[in-house]
Amino acid sequence: MSVRVVARIRPLLEKELDKDVIVSADRAQDGKPLTIVKIPSPKNEAEEFSFAFNSVYDRATTQEELFTSEGMSTRWASTPVAPHMKALFQGYDVTIFAYGVTGTGKTHTMRGGLKLAERGVIPRLLSNVFRRGKKIAKDSNGETTVDVALSYYEIYNDKVYDLLEPPEKRTPSGLPLREKDGKTIVVGLSERSCEDLKDFERLYIEANNNRVTAATKLNAHSSRSHAILRVKVTQTTGDRVRESTASAIDLAGSEDNRRTDNGKERLVESAAINKSLFVLSQCIDAISRGDKRIPYRESKMTRILSLGQNNGITIMILNLAPIRSYHLDTLSSLNVSSRAKRIEVREIENEVVFKQPPRSTSGLGGPNVIRQPLR
Ligand code: ADP
Ligand code: MG
Repeated sequence: MSVRVVARIRPLLEKELDKDVIVSADRAQDGKPLTIVKIPSPKNEAEEFSFAFNSVYDRATTQEELFTSEGMSTRWASTPVAPHMKALFQGYDVTIFAYGVTGTGKTHTMRGGLKLAERGVIPRLLSNVFRRGKKIAKDSNGETTVDVALSYYEIYNDKVYDLLEPPEKRTPSGLPLREKDGKTIVVGLSERSCEDLKDFERLYIEANNNRVTAATKLNAHSSRSHAILRVKVTQTTGDRVRESTASAIDLAGSEDNRRTDNGKERLVESAAINKSLFVLSQCIDAISRGDKRIPYRESKMTRILSLGQNNGITIMILNLAPIRSYHLDTLSSLNVSSRAKRIEVREIENEVVFKQPPRSTSGLGGPNVIRQPLR
């Protein structure tokens, strides 16, 4: 079981161009890749916090770059640190979470836009799965068949709703869970087989519409539920069957709703969200430490995913907005994204004040730095 925690800083939106940027990406050493996120302390602007990740994607990162360097493409499949699609076809489960405050780019990262270049992780993953599936079938002269089936559901207020079913068919109490052969199954969750990318897109768009329609009825909002897409890949050669799953999760917003909202309904929602996100981060922590015991049973989401129970790869993408209005929420999401340990606190260099260099020959002249960073 391996886990990667990465951060992605989104670019400024049109309406934010005049806003104060406070989050930046950095490298531990010259020539190394970006692994550090920096943000000032909200209490003391002269103090700066740094958080370390497995990888940091800055504002200029494209959808394609994020996907390929997280190892999903064939080209990068041999990179030692990156999890990859090859592993999925070797029977490993791959789980990808988008974590972060509402408005930071989770849906953009996972689903993305309609244009080819704007497509997110999910359509790219599917495209990759179909491509590989076809190749495996071809290379085996049809001896191996590859079937792809989808499930798509959301967890709202700790209840599970099928997104492949029309909202009229929802029962308010949601779908029950049951344990079977040591696995958690969602009873009655539908699964649709999927032939190609077109097929997938049709289903996915329809399901996302279900989500929106249901949301207006239940007075919920997409930012308050976790949306989980599961892609089951079944490879059959004679009587040998190999099954593995890729799960892509667009999590509920991690913001602290107590600051803005205190309606009763919102508080119930917030409690459910906070609990599940907390358990998730504990699971990620435990997996990355190599613990035997992963507290995955303590929330519905982690239980259904059996997080940490299978051999596989888990990737958490922490989405960040770079501007000041997100300051406190950004800081708390950095703090909980587990492995993203706070590594360093230092005082920011004050503005360098250029004084007239004293005319000396001692070599000590030059700009006066008011305060050196503390190391
Ligand atoms: P979330 O799902 O976390 O609430 P969204 O994905 O809806 O956030 O993103 C908020 C806004 O920012 C949307 O308008 C989205 O198109 C835009 N956005 C997010 N990330 C990017 C990005 N990497 N490049 C361009 N626009 C982005
Ligand atoms: Mg969203």
